[in-house]
Amino acid sequence: MAITESVRSDSPGEPIDDEARVLDLCRRLLAEAPPAETSPVEFLGRQFDLGLAWVHFPEGHGGLGLSPKLQKTINETLGRAKAPRAGAMNPIGHGMGAPTIVTHGSDEQKRRYLRPLFTNEEIWCQLFSEPGAGSDVAGLSSRAVRDGDEWLVNGQKVWTTLAHMSRFGMLVARTDPDAPKHKGLTYFVVDMQAPGVEVRPLYQITGEAEFNEVYFTDVRIPDAERLGEVGEGWRVSLTTLMNERVSIGGQIPPRGSGFAGELMKTFTATGPHDATTRDRVMRLWIRAEVLRLTNIRASQNRSQGTPGPEGSIGKMAMAEVHKDISECAVDLLGAAGTLFPAGYPMARPETTALWSNPQQAFLRSRANSIEGGTTEIMKNILGERVLGLPGDIRTDKDRPWIEVPRS
Ligand SMILES: Cc1cc2nc3c(=O)[nH]c(=O)nc-3n(C[C@H](O)[C@H](O)[C@H](O)COP(=O)(O)OP(=O)(O)OC[C@H]3O[C@@H](n4cnc5c(N)ncnc54)[C@H](O)[C@@H]3O)c2cc1C
Repeated sequence: MAITESVRSDSPGEPIDDEARVLDLCRRLLAEAPPAETSPVEFLGRQFDLGLAWVHFPEGHGGLGLSPKLQKTINETLGRAKAPRAGAMNPIGHGMGAPTIVTHGSDEQKRRYLRPLFTNEEIWCQLFSEPGAGSDVAGLSSRAVRDGDEWLVNGQKVWTTLAHMSRFGMLVARTDPDAPKHKGLTYFVVDMQAPGVEVRPLYQITGEAEFNEVYFTDVRIPDAERLGEVGEGWRVSLTTLMNERVSIGGQIPPRGSGFAGELMKTFTATGPHDATTRDRVMRLWIRAEVLRLTNIRASQNRSQGTPGPEGSIGKMAMAEVHKDISECAVDLLGAAGTLFPAGYPMARPETTALWSNPQQAFLRSRANSIEGGTTEIMKNILGERVLGLPGDIRTDKDRPWIEVPRS
């Protein structure tokens, strides 16, 4: 059966509803590719081909053009069958790359990139932040200069998570320094194996280098690898950034799992506890549950899968909940909490780990209020876009970027 063929109910001639359709396709996938006997790449490839990767994406590009709400049904059904999880190895590709490509990419780019991204055969990274441009990412300095059918890129990016594992990067570069900062940017897909791309590890407080510095020296990018129009890089970047907040802060783990579940494991392993400690743990569990329910509501309000400012609420709340839970877990360990079980391995991990043990989670979660936009920036977004408060003072908004003083 072709993947686009409509599935019919028992009553001949009558289309069954969308949920029944995706459940039927899930059953078919599990029957044809039993997870226990199928390699993750093979399973995920078949999931993509059946339109069950991102169900709201167009048919032929990993979706069925249906409501994104149905993705939860698919994920739960496949999860119960112990099917491989798609996003864990490629969090940036799945969380931000795919929605950006499907929104702004050409058909050729969608065909080329989405499937191997979903199967994790090609890992992606995000090349936005620079030493002089983090919160103010639109002020970035990396240059791309047109040279025939190509662009010549020079500059430096920083904090690039998983660049050392990546096949492709989402790169924003300045193509018109005479335009105001938001208007002179262009967005590219860059081959991380191209000559002139150099990736150097940056070690974190956990002793691991999840992220990197990336240097570009005369790197050539074909114009065909541009995403969106020349000068429209900020508009394309907003799709990445809005999805980044949801990808980091909008997780919906099953009730009592995730950080809340890990806290309960530590609580149980270290008990019995006095009433004050029980009260502290209970309050944290409730905060995690409120965040989970808020994220469910936010995801159900999104009819087309493009997040709005509600993503900033989840991102901001998640950072504080994670920090407080991991701090409590370390306290529960008592003196043992001061020991770091993994030591400082100075390793370059293959993916990002938020909770390996309470001590690692305590250290790693410090970054949650920085990565994907700081808590202060989330508050600015919410103040301006949700509460309608006066905007942040922006003196450089309409000035040519080249005239704006920078360090
Ligand atoms: C673990 C981790 C992973 C990351 N991964 C990536 C990645 O893969 N790709 C990528 O491109 N980047 C990545 N980043 C970078 C991240 O996006 C930036 O660190 C973040 O946007 C903040 O920028 P900055 O570090 O330059 O701090 P700055 O922007 O210099 O901010 C310094 C301080 O000033 C505050 N501040 C700045 N401007 C304002 C304002 N207008 N109003 C109020 N307060 C303000 C900030 O909140 C912060 O407290 C990662 C960061 C971390 C920690």
